Amino acid sequence: MQFGGTPKPSASRRKRLRLADGLSDDLYPHGLMMYNRPPMCNITLQEFESFAYDRVKVLHYLDSLGVSYVKNSPDYCQKLGDYLRKNYVGFTLTSEPSKDTEERNLEWRRKDHISHFILRLAYCRSDELRRWFLEKEVDLFKYRFNCESTSSIKQFLMLNDMTYYPISEEEKEKFSAHLKLISYDMTQSKVQSTNFYKVPFTDVLNLVSSRRVFINSGYAYVPQSELISIISTRFREHLSKALAQTSRSLPELEEDDRLLPILRGFNKNTLAEAYDPNKNAGKVSIKQIDELSKISFPLCMRQLHQVLRETHHHKHWARLQYGLFLKGIGVTLEESIKFWKAEFSKGVGEEKFNKEYSYNFRHMFGREGKRTNYAPYGCMNIIMKNVPAPGEHHGCPFKHSSPELLKQRLHHYKIPKDSIDEIIKLMKSQHYQIACTKYYEVTHKVDEAGFQLNHPNQYFDESQMLLKGEKKTTGLKPSQGNAEFTPKWSQPVPESQTEESEMELDALMTEVDV
Ligand code: SF4
Repeated sequence: MQFGGTPKPSASRRKRLRLADGLSDDLYPHGLMMYNRPPMCNITLQEFESFAYDRVKVLHYLDSLGVSYVKNSPDYCQKLGDYLRKNYVGFTLTSEPSKDTEERNLEWRRKDHISHFILRLAYCRSDELRRWFLEKEVDLFKYRFNCESTSSIKQFLMLNDMTYYPISEEEKEKFSAHLKLISYDMTQSKVQSTNFYKVPFTDVLNLVSSRRVFINSGYAYVPQSELISIISTRFREHLSKALAQTSRSLPELEEDDRLLPILRGFNKNTLAEAYDPNKNAGKVSIKQIDELSKISFPLCMRQLHQVLRETHHHKHWARLQYGLFLKGIGVTLEESIKFWKAEFSKGVGEEKFNKEYSYNFRHMFGREGKRTNYAPYGCMNIIMKNVPAPGEHHGCPFKHSSPELLKQRLHHYKIPKDSIDEIIKLMKSQHYQIACTKYYEVTHKVDEAGFQLNHPNQYFDESQMLLKGEKKTTGLKPSQGNAEFTPKWSQPVPESQTEESEMELDALMTEVDV
């Protein structure tokens, strides 16, 4: 792929690009892909970002859908289909015979192809990211495979050199007595209506060992419903290897300073994570914080507040996480210094605070150093970075606490037992933000939060709007993702920090830690 920084091309230019890039049926003969070949075309940086963000949104939606519904159940497929039709062009198309549709198909396949490869780059950086991406891509592949017609599957198999042939009606008739025996519910009429594929038996040893296929002349006769598990296993193996390979080529990519910040944004899953630090400036006074921490703080911040009140100290990551959060909810610099000084003075003393710590808080507000207006950290930043060591209290309790400790804490906050069980289940299945949303629903006594949680300050804002009667719950489940998405490049960017300046702040805080 080659990237240009020019504005989004006009329709005529897009057409020229398409011709120049040789966008044709030969390149994208089928809507479903194994993504064997990387894209070899020119795209603009804007396309690079918007294609990938659209796909990230779909993968996140799949993630939350998998919590509420059994995967591939009719409800799951219905919801996913509705979502894709509404939000993402590129998947599940009907083939209408007009020329216009053909062109759109090619455009959408191109988007599907390119966006997949961009996210490979973004999600190959750690085991955890690779695992998440792999799971979601396999889920998406399975759904799309199940949407394909028999003739389309046949074409897909042929294009990908998979030697799995649908058997003819005569062959089916010939072996119908044997095919009936592969499962208890396989009746004669079901045999007639099912499509069977001939697959080398070595590719389906699990089905052979559980006697769920008929074998003849080295081929297993696999019903179409089982075919997806074979193909998706191949898809998974292929993608898993490809992600490992991509991660090895990362050092080369690090040299491209146009792409790196964009890719980092994706793998932090930063949908809507940019938070304007000035949005609430001056709206909250320190006198309100004790009360607000109980009713409107997410658990991570409630915990940090409580620890600060009890121990009168925070180590540097906790200061950073909590200090920026307080700034985001509207505590001014003056109030902030007063608040931290009052606590630290009970521990390290006022003089030491003035000498060693107050500079940090002024720095957070952009009054020292490079004078950057730092934004509060989003959930994925808190979840993925800087794992707390023993004795540290920053991080996300849904990710970084043990289930026992979290259970104890929730019990202490008088969360009902069945809700605690549900939260712990979500936590164990690594759905940290959904667990946090559940905590919001229970503590705010609403059935459905009506927003997709990405940021502790968003949690606070939503809570305050609800408590002040400025917002009604929408009736949508959080997992239904009602948050509107605007690509980062078109968002109004507050004077928030770059990755570099964030690191600068981190380093500064580290220097003076005790
Ligand atoms: Fe905080 Fe986000 Fe974790 Fe909730 S999910 S506790 S807001 S980091």
